[in-house]
Amino acid sequence: MAKRILVTGGAGFIGSHLCDRLLRGGNDVLCVDNFLTGSQANVEHLLDSRHFEIMEHDVTSPLRVEVDQIYNLACPASPVHYQADPVRTTKTSVMGAINMLDLARRLDVPILQASTSEVYGDPEVHPQPESYLGNVNTIGPRACYDEGKRCAEALFFDYHRQHQLQIKVIRIFNTYGPNMHPDDGRVVSNFIVQALRGEDITIYGDGSQTRSFCYVDDLVKAMVAMMDTDGSVTGPINIGNPDEITVNQLAELVIEMTNSNSRLVHKALPVDDPRQRRPDITQARQVLGWEPSVQLRAGLARTVRYFDALLQVNGANLAQDNLPEQGPFTVETGF
Ligand code: NAD
Ligand code: UDP
Repeated sequence: MAKRILVTGGAGFIGSHLCDRLLRGGNDVLCVDNFLTGSQANVEHLLDSRHFEIMEHDVTSPLRVEVDQIYNLACPASPVHYQADPVRTTKTSVMGAINMLDLARRLDVPILQASTSEVYGDPEVHPQPESYLGNVNTIGPRACYDEGKRCAEALFFDYHRQHQLQIKVIRIFNTYGPNMHPDDGRVVSNFIVQALRGEDITIYGDGSQTRSFCYVDDLVKAMVAMMDTDGSVTGPINIGNPDEITVNQLAELVIEMTNSNSRLVHKALPVDDPRQRRPDITQARQVLGWEPSVQLRAGLARTVRYFDALLQVNGANLAQDNLPEQGPFTVETGF
């Protein structure tokens, strides 16, 4: 039966794909966003649908709407953006979680939290299973995001234990794809935009740090599968692609795929930048019957096509005015 589904952060990168997917599934979607890092352009094609509604709202304030399910995605996710106003980032994660949990409780509906691999911090266990408790610097510049998300997880499980709320917590590992903002600041969008513009590719540190990149369509399938599980499934469940590569390898791949003349340049490594990251997805396989199916090359090809078209249309308009003046806090590495 068709449901009315709330997606907070629905105008962002992942949220916009989720709204698409839920509408295609025959549901009504209420997209709530304050447009901090998201953009109406990401959901422009949905605005004419009578099954889609967009509401400008900040999740740090309570929300009174009637829905059957809630996906809570509202939070800046790129280190550049979440560190620009760190107090606001923590408030968004913590107060946003409380407000959306209160809404779910009043309506007695399931709620999914977009948590993150950042709850593992700079992991000493590799790959990371859900049972790993993490290695987070509580006072570093990433803490606003990491601890905000950890507190949100604690709140979700307390609402579950205390109020028998149906919760679904997923820990998302680095995800990429179309609808990332060209000034998002994360590595995949940075490298592709730099390569397409023929600008220097900025490798932070020596580039030997690793990540495992998941294409957004794979992630969205897992999100819907998680929401569709019965009430006994709470998570947390890791969602990501276990294919791990170094940042240097990613840069070489992007240069090759874009046929770019860009040079590789090294910049200071951000403070507390995790050295390695790869999800253990045993739980996702067993509980959701899910695993990623889009190979990095195929996902990157689609993402390159997206940015190529965007840059051709908007070329001159893509000034850096969306970027906060201060980037991530960095440490000198000698490069
Ligand atoms: P994004 O920045 O593109 O999207 C975040 C959205 O939330 C934006 O539309 C933004 O405007 C909105 N938002 C921010 N603060 C808000 C507030 N106070 N009230 C209402 N809306 C607000 O980032 P994304 O990559 O799409 O991430 C979506 C979610 O997934 C985030 O919660 C993020 O922490 C989580 N996540 C993403 C990744 C990833 O690799 N993309 C990894 C782990 C977790
Ligand atoms: N990174 C980089 N150049 C960039 C942006 C990021 O070398 O222009 C590195 C960053 O230091 C990190 C990795 O790429 O080691 C992934 O960074 P991102 O911001 O995408 O996500 P994170 O996993 O750190 O949250």
